[in-house]
Amino acid sequence: MSKNLLITGASRGIGRATALLAAAQGWTVGVNYRSDRAAADEVVAQIHAAGGQAIAVQGDVANEADVLRLFETMDTLGPLHGLVVNAGIVAPPMALLEMSGERLQRMFDVNVLGSYLTAREGARRMALSRGGVGGSMVLVSSVAASLGSPFEYVDYAGAKGAMDVLTRGLAKELGGEGVRVNAVRPGLIDTDIHASGGQPDRAERLGKATPLGRAGRAEEVAEAIVWLLDDKASYTTGALIDIAGGR
Ligand code: NAP
Repeated sequence: MSKNLLITGASRGIGRATALLAAAQGWTVGVNYRSDRAAADEVVAQIHAAGGQAIAVQGDVANEADVLRLFETMDTLGPLHGLVVNAGIVAPPMALLEMSGERLQRMFDVNVLGSYLTAREGARRMALSRGGVGGSMVLVSSVAASLGSPFEYVDYAGAKGAMDVLTRGLAKELGGEGVRVNAVRPGLIDTDIHASGGQPDRAERLGKATPLGRAGRAEEVAEAIVWLLDDKASYTTGALIDIAGGR
C-alpha cells in the first residue's frame, strides 16, 4: 500500500526534488505550492509520467485557514504517513538595523508560524493517540541557524533556529506516538531561493569557499530527507543533519 506524504513548498527547489524522489520510491505525494500553480502541476505531471501518484494543493503556510484546508485535502487520500515542512523564504541581504517590521513579520510568519502550524497539523494526524498510524516528519531548517547569517539575514537564521528547537522538542513529544521528527540543515544549495533574495549567483559564489568547494544540489538534500522519511531511519529522531558541504 502506498504511503501518503505532504511536502510544503514542493513546486520547485528542494521540495520539488524531494517530491520526485519520494514518488519514485512509492510515496503518494501532496505537492503544496503558494502561488505558482503551473510549476506544481509540472511536478505532478512528471510524477504521473513516471508511474507515480501525486496531487497539487495550493496553500500559504503562513495562513492557518490555508494550512487546515491543505491537510483536509490530504485527508481525502487516507492516513498521513509523512510530512516535509519545507516551505520557506529569504529576503534581500542587510543588517538587522536596516530591516523593516514588515519584513520581519513576513519572515517569521512564513518560516516560523508556518512551520509550527504545519507540524501541528501533521502531528494531529500521525499521532497514534489521535487515531493516526504513526509516521515521520522532516523539517527543512538551515545551517544559517548555527552561522547567524550576519549582515545578510539574521531574521532568516533566527527563524531556522526556531525550527531546530521545534524539531528537538516535538521529537520528544511524539516519540511515544509512533512519530519520528528530524531536520535537515542545508547549506548553499543551487535553487531559485537566492534569486528571490536578490542574489541569483549566491550559491555558486559562496559555494566555492566551502570545504567541498561547490554549491549543493537540491537532489543531494532530497536524498537525506527521503531517507529520514523511510523506516530505514527507524531509530533516528530529534536529529539535525547538516547537508552543507562542510560549511
Ligand atoms: P525555493 O526554490 O525558493 O522554493 C520555495 C518553495 O516554497 C516554492 O515551492 C514556493 O512556492 C514555496 N513557498 C514559499 N512561500 C510559501 C508559503 N508561504 N506557503 C507555501 N509555500 C511557499 O526554495 P528552496 O531553496 O528549495 O528552499 C526550500 C527550503 O530549504 C526553505 O525552507 C529554505 O529556507 C531551505 N533552505 C534552502 C537553502 C538553499 O541554499 N537553497 C539552504 C538552507 C535552507 P511558490 O513558488 O508557489 O510560492
